[in-house]
Amino acid sequence: MARENKPRIVIAGAGHGGLIAGRILARAGFPVEIIEKSNRGNLGWDWEDNFNLTAFKATGSPLPPASQYYDTPRYTFVSPDLSTRITASHPPERREICMERKTLIEKLILEAESAGVALAFNTLVEGPIIEKGAVTGVDTNAGPVHGDIIIDSAGIDSPVRLGLPNDYRVVKEMGRGHVFHTYRAYHERTLKDPVKESTFNVHLRFNGMLGITWYRPVPGCIDILAGQIHPFPKNGLEGIVNAMNDVYNDIGKEVLRGGGITRIPVRRPLPLFVGNGYAAVGDAACMTVPITGSGIEISMRAGALLARTIIKQSVNDDPRKVESLWKYQVQFTKEMGSILHGIDYLKSYILSLSLEKINFVFRKRLITAGELSSFMVGSGIQMGAWALIQKLIKGFSKLGFLLDLKRAVDTVSRVQKLAASIPRTHDGIEISKWANAIQEHFDPLEQSMQ
Ligand SMILES: Cc1cc2nc3c(=O)[nH]c(=O)nc-3n(C[C@H](O)[C@H](O)[C@H](O)COP(=O)(O)OP(=O)(O)OC[C@H]3O[C@@H](n4cnc5c(N)ncnc54)[C@H](O)[C@@H]3O)c2cc1C
Repeated sequence: MARENKPRIVIAGAGHGGLIAGRILARAGFPVEIIEKSNRGNLGWDWEDNFNLTAFKATGSPLPPASQYYDTPRYTFVSPDLSTRITASHPPERREICMERKTLIEKLILEAESAGVALAFNTLVEGPIIEKGAVTGVDTNAGPVHGDIIIDSAGIDSPVRLGLPNDYRVVKEMGRGHVFHTYRAYHERTLKDPVKESTFNVHLRFNGMLGITWYRPVPGCIDILAGQIHPFPKNGLEGIVNAMNDVYNDIGKEVLRGGGITRIPVRRPLPLFVGNGYAAVGDAACMTVPITGSGIEISMRAGALLARTIIKQSVNDDPRKVESLWKYQVQFTKEMGSILHGIDYLKSYILSLSLEKINFVFRKRLITAGELSSFMVGSGIQMGAWALIQKLIKGFSKLGFLLDLKRAVDTVSRVQKLAASIPRTHDGIEISKWANAIQEHFDPLEQSMQ
């Protein structure tokens, strides 16, 4: 089919998933336009991210030169009372790397451009255009842009998702515990002695906050992240940085890179992220590892999956229809989404525990280094019979709590299986039943989160 006869793809936001989807679709002959609010020079945060190197191969993106990335140090998890540290290697099937965000985004843009994607920078998407029950374009500050399929890659607060009609039944508002308000910055380092650059300390519930914090020396500065489910109160952030400095003694006040507070989705993927003429990828559909908010690899893989689904569906079917785009959601849920559901359950459970119980879990090493690391990078967690027996022996003094922990881990598997049982065809009633059955597991935990 000639390019002019193929469905026209409009992508809102030059997010990772949108750039990958755009490149694959353009290479397959689809006309693709990406509309991005920032100018090219400002795109991407000023910091390094950690993600799995295999994201490139899985999405057909060439490996970056080795000089552009390095292996992420092993994570050391620190208990809330700071008394216990557990250092974990990354799961063997993953190679976690650190890479500058701006370098990655520019790489993905160049690849999209060379495949024929048209990029409009400095253009703000304001909302979807709806005609006859389908999304047929987006309104922008430079006028309307029409397309056959609108890919929403505009992040957590996407105006396209927020502007969808209610009968799309796509969740718009984030619920309790669904977002981390996150501070990330490179602070000056006040000590001059050599640092251990292999240190990467991840604190659970540091200073009592409901979330995670990390401390990581990088050349010349200290990389700090603090993410919690509540907005930071006035001066609250300063309090956290000061408290971290009380522990580490080398965090200066001057911010050298990054800074500012952003919102990251930390919930299971949305129960519905496709509609007639509409499909979301990445943060717009809440595709992150719920405990950390890491979403680059998932967004890239989802972008590739969406593009391949559209290409396949356009052979014998109408790829604009929700029934066609639903196949993307089904495949995503089977490959990645179901595990993210399980991790979200565990995150919600951990956030509902008292600090004393979390300290106990660390002190007695009821959670292993491997389990913590899998949890952190999003490769799932389960507790077999033998592991349970070992934990029961170690944590005998709090047997009731241990059984509760075991119940929670069992529920993780149950939620994961339930998510994977997503209806294979698009049927509104079946989808509601499926989504409600999952939500029932989360209700008690989410309601108990203060
Ligand atoms: C502090 C912090 C640290 C993080 N660290 C990591 C990490 O180490 N590893 C990891 O994997 N993930 C990390 N993440 C998460 C990661 O940033 C996201 O999951 C990932 O960027 C999702 O990509 P995306 O494809 O959804 O697009 P996004 O990166 O969300 O990009 C959306 C794009 O849309 C554009 N846009 C938004 N609104 C509009 C509009 N109205 N009109 C036009 N364009 C618009 C934006 O400018 C942006 O370019 C971190 C996030 C934060 C905030």
